[in-house]
This record gives sequence, C-alpha cells and structure tokens, in this order.
Amino acid sequence: MILCPDCRDTFEFSLGYCDKCHWTLDSDDGINVLLSNSDKKSAMFSSYKDNYDRIGNDDLAERIQPEIYLKNQAKKLFSYCDNIKDKDVCEVGVGSGGLVQHLATAGCRSVLGIDICMSYLERLKKRYQGKDNIEFTMANAENLPFYNQFDTIVASDVLEHVLNVGNFLFGVNHALRTGGKFVVRVPLNEDINVYSKFCDCQYDYVHLRNFNKQTLNTLLKSVGFKIQKINYDGYLLYNTREYLKKYDKIYTYYEKKLRSYYKKDCSESAINNTIGRLLMKPFEMIAVCVKEKEACWKDGAIRLLDKNEATL
Ligand SMILES: [Zn+2]
Repeated sequence: MILCPDCRDTFEFSLGYCDKCHWTLDSDDGINVLLSNSDKKSAMFSSYKDNYDRIGNDDLAERIQPEIYLKNQAKKLFSYCDNIKDKDVCEVGVGSGGLVQHLATAGCRSVLGIDICMSYLERLKKRYQGKDNIEFTMANAENLPFYNQFDTIVASDVLEHVLNVGNFLFGVNHALRTGGKFVVRVPLNEDINVYSKFCDCQYDYVHLRNFNKQTLNTLLKSVGFKIQKINYDGYLLYNTREYLKKYDKIYTYYEKKLRSYYKKDCSESAINNTIGRLLMKPFEMIAVCVKEKEACWKDGAIRLLDKNEATL
C-alpha cells in the first residue's frame, strides 16, 4: 500500500490527499510526486535535489559514465534479479533507465521506477507510454512512502548517495513484503576523495561513503535482511590486478588478448564475473538479500519483529 509521505499513515490514494494530515498529491506532466511537505520545505532537501537535477540533466546531455559500461552493468544487475515474473518490482534511482529496459520485457506484474530527478522520469515516461504495468514516480529514497507493496526492490548507485543510510534502508524494509528481495549495488572500497572540489568535482553531493563486504553486511542485517549472495562486478582493464602487472610478458599477452576480444573501451566490463575478478579489481559489489523480518525502533533499540507482530 501507498503511505502518506508526511504522516506515513495509510490513506485512500484515489482521493489524491491524506484525510489524516491533509498532505496533497502533486502531479507533474502525469508523474506523481510523492514528496512530503517537510521535504518540500527543507532547505537541505532542496539543495540535495537541485544537485541531482543538475547531475541528471548533465548526464542526459552527455553521459557521465561510458555508455558501454552502463549497458553491461545494467545487464549484469538484471541477471541478479531472478524470479521476477508476475512480481511487483520497484527500482529506486532509475536514472536513465538501463535496468528498466530489461524489466520491461521480463513479465513483471508491475514495475515502478523512482527517482528525484524529473528529467530522467519524464524521459522514461515517454519511452514506456502505453505500457500499463510500468510507472514512474518522484519520491525521496530516504522517505519511501510504501508498506508491504513490492516483491523486489532494486537500488543501484543509491546507498552511497543518500544523506542518511538508515532512512533509506528502513524504508526499503517496510516497502517490501516479507520474503521479498532487495538487490543493492554499491561501489567497493572506493577512494571518495575524488569527489572533492580539490579534485575538480563539479557537484556538492556525490558519493558520501564507501563500502566493503563487512560494512554492507552490518547495515543490511541490522534492518532485517539476510544476504543470500554477494556478487562483484565493474571490471575495467585499467584496474588490472597488481600481480599481473609484475610480469611484463604475461601482462602484455593478457592485455593484448583481452583487447582483441573486447575491442571497444570499457566493453571488457561484460566479462564473466569469476574470470574478471581473477584479472581485475572489481569496482562494485552487489548484495542480493531477502527481507526476513520487519525492522522497527522499540525501547531504544532496533527490533526485528516476528511475522505475527508485523505492524506499520
Ligand atoms: Zn498524512
């Protein structure tokens, strides 16, 4: 069900307003805007949103990351989302729609794409016009207004961007049905100094934290998720393993072989993950996890509720 973004109580969505707190649904060119009034009034949120509008518009004008890399990464991300036929699927942070392209033909019961950048949403809405089971909505990843609504939620390149990780993860937990799947991709052991103004970074907010297997596991486990599998991907030749670089002849042979197979720059990101990981350091890590229990804050601690105590 859809919750009121302000009071987070249930309401009759077709009314277009919350009868408990009088929050009103906005719509921009047919795209629902599920932002709370408190977010709309917040200077911090406004600055954060402006930043991502700028990134989105810049990305649509000229891709920030190489197109081939994004395409291969979207294909791999889709391969981790198994068992989605006839399921309700949500992607938080749809961006330019690399994953939606795959979800659109996967036989999902419904696909909801969420972003805070209207330019991305407008473009995708046009692209999927007439597809009744695919919708796009503006919402804040840190205030997902859903309860028990989806079988699968995918979030790629979101967890490192949100200001408050817990706001996002509790929201994902509540939006998923028990037993539902959360597929989350984050950068792996990244040096986030590169997002400094001293490194010519043009944006105020980019990646705010980095992750390894342990930190990601702690965050997910504490809000009721059980990790089923960790995948490593994001392979580019310039990130070749040090041990290969030590041996000139082997390195030259390896580079030549790989380049003859993957001719275009960044097309090597399509490499099988196991072989890729032997040869190159992965840039990204994907946890495929299941919502085991509903998480809430009770008596000064995060509590994971048993099925019969599940509550809003
Ligand atoms: Zn309300």
